[in-house]
Parts: sequence; structure tokens; C-alpha cells
Amino acid sequence: MHMPRITRKIFTDQFIWMVTLGLTVGFIFPPFMILLGVPEANVMTPLFYSASLLAGFFMGVMNFGLVHFVVRPHLKELAERMKLIKSTVNDKTYQESDVHCMGDSCFIEATSDDEFGDSARAFNEMVQALQSAHEVEYVYTSFSKALSSNLELDGLAKEAIHMLIEHTVCSAGGLYIEYEGDMKLVYAQGIVNADQLAGHELLHQAMNDTSIERITLPENIQVDGLLTRFRPQEIVIVPILFKQRHLGVFVLASPVHINEQSVGMINMFRQGMGLALNNAIAHESLQRLAALDSLTNIYNRRFGLKRLKEEFKRIQRNDSPLGVIMIDIDHFKRINDTYGHLVGDKAIVSVSKSILDTLREGDVLARYGGEEFMVILPGASEQNCWNAAERIRRLVEDLSLRINDQEIKFTVSLGYVSYPQIEVEDEMALLHHADQALYQAKETGRNRIVAYSDLSIDESAQKQIA
Ligand code: GH3
Ligand code: MG
Ligand code: MG
Repeated sequence: MHMPRITRKIFTDQFIWMVTLGLTVGFIFPPFMILLGVPEANVMTPLFYSASLLAGFFMGVMNFGLVHFVVRPHLKELAERMKLIKSTVNDKTYQESDVHCMGDSCFIEATSDDEFGDSARAFNEMVQALQSAHEVEYVYTSFSKALSSNLELDGLAKEAIHMLIEHTVCSAGGLYIEYEGDMKLVYAQGIVNADQLAGHELLHQAMNDTSIERITLPENIQVDGLLTRFRPQEIVIVPILFKQRHLGVFVLASPVHINEQSVGMINMFRQGMGLALNNAIAHESLQRLAALDSLTNIYNRRFGLKRLKEEFKRIQRNDSPLGVIMIDIDHFKRINDTYGHLVGDKAIVSVSKSILDTLREGDVLARYGGEEFMVILPGASEQNCWNAAERIRRLVEDLSLRINDQEIKFTVSLGYVSYPQIEVEDEMALLHHADQALYQAKETGRNRIVAYSDLSIDESAQKQIA
């Protein structure tokens, strides 16, 4: 029930009500005395009446004083805390930081078992709810920022796993994507043998599932192999979809039971991850397309030169050799002229495949020009280069292209150089030397290999003779 309002201030209303009640009591007190049998002459005097009214008035004022000192401080505290919360929230809303009250300054001690206690408790719960809402918002903003600022797949995966480990109870995780029908590891942290996990059937199952799979490992279970360095209590497998298409899977492992808050974070992260992963995969395949030659599907000249530059820098740092072989198909114009351009193209493709077959992991093959190829061999000495060149020369020599019952045979000439046996300033000089050696191979009869070091000995010998 509400008393009718008199002024705009409840405490002023309270004061008026209390004083009015006091005065009323003072006013009816003398007649009440008469009813109790006190002689009228003693009571109905101006002095007694005035004293009774005055006593009633003071009673009202004193009661109000009690309300002022007992009730008002609690309301004042509530109002002050609310203002503090308001300004904290205001300050932090547009900043990229988490809202956390310093100590207990945002909360109110709930010491009263009545509506005052109830309102203090409700207030504390509200602050807590506000805090976690803000935390979620803060984490969401960081998630979005991290997801949108990484266009490269590797960077994105790394950032995503770090964030999940930071903001959930999980301590290890990995991101796998589907690539040509298989699961491929992009990045993992804290997972032992993360590469092998890519073949696990649970990951493949997740690629047909839309919901998160939670696997609780009972204390006494014997886990095959070691997944993490700690004993995981729960593992979650999170399919990542974009427009109903499965792109990949997160695997997360936690040493403790995964709480609701962490599940919420994982779910939130998963939604943003779909779009980010889709962009990164699209970006990567564009990058791959831009690096490839459309006829042979090996690297193009631009990408080959980029790789050569990178490799040259790298071997200078770790002091290992670097070999470059230039290859050119012999009398290719004849093939074109005799059998036509399409057959010529087929020859180029089959030569590129043969070269690729002879190469080792880490070697780079690029189509340098029409029917010219460049091979980069990190770590290859002169002898290694010669061996690789000879494998290529033989394989192409043995190769035959069957066109309409006709067998077409061809050969290649090769020139190579190996750094630092041959000292050069930059990678372009290396390329130039390999080209000079190739020219010499053409000059001296084709279907052969020439080392640049042999050329320079010849040159210096010629100079000496001169
Ligand atoms: P050499 O032994 O001196 O290398 O003789 P060659 O006839 O191979 O001479 P060269 O390397 O200068 O000739 C390259 C020829 O390759 C010229 C060009 O018509 C042909 N060619 C270049 N690119 C392509 C291509 O993409 N497809 C086809 N079919 N032919 C190409
Ligand atoms: Mg040629
Ligand atoms: Mg050529």
C-alpha cells in the first residue's frame, strides 16, 4: 500500500506524515484523558493543550530523526554504489577493457533480513550479471578483432587457439581443416602428436556433425597414447561450419570439467570462426592459385623468384649451401612445328612432372619461361646439384610422349650453380650463373649438364693463357 504523495521528496512526505501524526496524537490526547476520567478542568486548559500538541509535534520530529539516521544511510549507500557502477560501466563500455570492480567497492553488504537486505542482494546480483555480461562482450570484441585481423590461415589458427585457451578452462587445443578429403592440422598447442590426431575417426565424424561433442574421460580409464601432457578430464570436438558447410574442427582438452561459462565462450567463438576460417581458406587458395602456373600446376616464375630470394636469405643465416638448376627443353621449336602447339604443351607438362618426380622434399620447381624450368635446391652442394641434374636429364631422356601411335622423344639441357662454392652478392646473380651454364650446355651439344664452376675455371684459365 502506498500513502498518497504530498511533495516530490519521499523523506519530506515522511516528515509531514510523522509531524501530522504527532500533532494529531497531541490534539486528541486531552479528550482521551477526559474519557479516562481525568477532570475536564485539569485537561482542557490552554497550557495543557499546548503542551500536548508540542509533545506530539516533537514525537513526530524525533521519529523522523530516527528514520533519517537508521534508514537513510542505507539508501544513500545504494544510490552511491549505483552511481559508481554507472560511471564504471560508462567509462569502460567504449574502451577495450574488462570491467572489474576494485575489491568490494561495487557491492553492498547485505546485513538486513528484510527488504533492505533483499535490495542489497538483488543489487549485488545485478552487478555480478552486469560484470559477466561485460566480460562476455569484452571477450567477444577481442575474438572478433582477432578473427577479422588474420587473413592468413596459420595466423588465424594460432590466435584462435591462444584465445580459447586463455578464455576457457581448456589448456590444450588444435585446429584441423578439411583439405582434399583429409583432415589437416593447421595449428596446435599443448597436444602431443597433433599431426597424428588428424587421422582420428572422431575428427572425421565431427565433419558430419553440427553439434559440439563432449567426451568425459572417467578417472580410471586407460587412454591410448598420450593426448596432452596433463591428464585431460574432458575433451570437446567442435565442428566449424560456414553456411552449413563443414570447414574444420577444433579439438580442445581440459584438465577439469568444462563449465557452462567455457561452453558459452566456445559456442560464441565457433560462430565467428566459421566466417573467419572461410575467408582464410579462400585467401589461401587464391594465394595458391596466384603462385601456380596454369598449364603445369607447378610454381610460376614470380613465385619461384620469391622463393629463391627467401631461400637465399635463409641459407645465409644458417650457413648451408644452396643450389640452382636451370633446365631448357632441347629443340622445342621443332616439336611445336612438327606436332603443333597442343602437343608442345603436353610435352611441357610431362617434363615438369618428370622433374617433380626426381626432386626431394624442400626442393622447389618453377616454370621459369615457356619450356624453361628453375629448380631451387636448399642445402645442395655442387655434387648434390650434379646428381639431381643427372637424375632429371636421364628421366627426360627415357620419357616418351605417345601421340596418335607416334612416339615423341626429347631431351633437356641443364646448367647449375651452388652457393657458396660460387660466391655471389644476391640470388639474381646465382640465377644468372645457372643460366650461363645452361647456355654453355646448349652450345656444347645439348642433352647435357654444365656446372658454372667449370665455366669460371675455363674463363680464368683462358684469362691466364691470354
Ligand atoms: P634450344 O634447344 O636452343 O632450347 O632450342 P629451342 O627450339 O627449344 O629454342 P628456345 O628454347 O629458344 O625455344 C622456345 C620455344 O618454345 C619457343 C616457343 O615457341 C615455345 N614455347 C614457349 N612457350 C610455350 C608454350 O607454353 N607452349 C608451347 N607449345 N610452346 C611454347
Ligand atoms: Mg629450348
Ligand atoms: Mg627456351
